[in-house]
Amino acid sequence: TKHFAVRRTGRDLLAGKRRAVHAVDDVSLRLRRGTVTALVGESGSGKSTVARLLAQLYPLTSGEIHLGGQPVKAGRGRSFRSYVRRVQLIFQDPFASLNPVHTVRYHLTRALKIHGRAGSGEAELEKNLTALLNRVQLTPPHQYLDKFPHELSGGQRQRVAIARALGADPQVLLADEPVSMLDVSIRLGVLNLLKDLKDRLHLAILYITHDIASARYFADTTLVMYAGRIVEGGDSETVTQRPAHPYTQLLIASAPDPDRVVAEEEQEETGSGEPPSLIDPPAGCRFHPRCPKAMERCRTELPPRFDLADGQWAACWLYEGDGTARTDDHEKEA
Ligand code: SF4
Ligand code: MG
Repeated sequence: TKHFAVRRTGRDLLAGKRRAVHAVDDVSLRLRRGTVTALVGESGSGKSTVARLLAQLYPLTSGEIHLGGQPVKAGRGRSFRSYVRRVQLIFQDPFASLNPVHTVRYHLTRALKIHGRAGSGEAELEKNLTALLNRVQLTPPHQYLDKFPHELSGGQRQRVAIARALGADPQVLLADEPVSMLDVSIRLGVLNLLKDLKDRLHLAILYITHDIASARYFADTTLVMYAGRIVEGGDSETVTQRPAHPYTQLLIASAPDPDRVVAEEEQEETGSGEPPSLIDPPAGCRFHPRCPKAMERCRTELPPRFDLADGQWAACWLYEGDGTARTDDHEKEA
């Protein structure tokens, strides 16, 4: 196939100081170029860990990652170096990800040089720097090149961080809560920029967020993560309009305004109860202590994924047997 895919399966262990922690389990995802995939979950669900595993910042203890159909081996080989260039991470906090003592010019020049894209000579470098700033709509570029991070707004800083990632000529952007620390008024602008870059540069974007309403607006596909596992997936419209998994239903029900595009305020708390510890997750379905529909077997048996209609799936015993026979209230209302 021509599409680009990152996929990993199996179990990962994130080494902690004193013991290994099962950070994410049995996570499998495929990112296609020219599309946005949202990974939605509460803080502590393991969604940032997935991004860091895909960016090779954490070692994979089992499972595998493919790029363009080829398995990627961690290490120092050429395929690994090419992977690290092709898959770029954008962090939540643009304050922390840019060095305060260096200018925009420094950050972008360094990225271009590391990836062998600075060109030969000053004029070509200047042209490439200008092109990067134009790409992220910081115009006119000469007004930004010699600024320090503290002279820029949060949104401008995040655009510089995006420009730096583009300096590597990536195929994949892993955007970990890219707008959650920005003013509400500028979030949409940054999401629209990412959308535009996805189309123009044919990028695969993994959009990590706790805001399921923004996933509906921004992402083609939505995956919902709970306690280290992906519990529901499908196209964003279906998952947000007809959520199948009780956890997704809870997320939607507790969103302050499901029709807004980006959250008016930070909303990390979701319904009753706390997400479980990943060190010692509950047996059976990990959501069972909070699930209003929990049945006896949910306490002991881990539900597999059941395929529903239109490519939607849910890891929930409610859909056993006939996956298309949904039993949730949303379906009855639909
Ligand atoms: Fe609730 Fe059981 Fe479904 Fe888990 S498997 S979400 S506990 S109904
Ligand atoms: Mg996080």
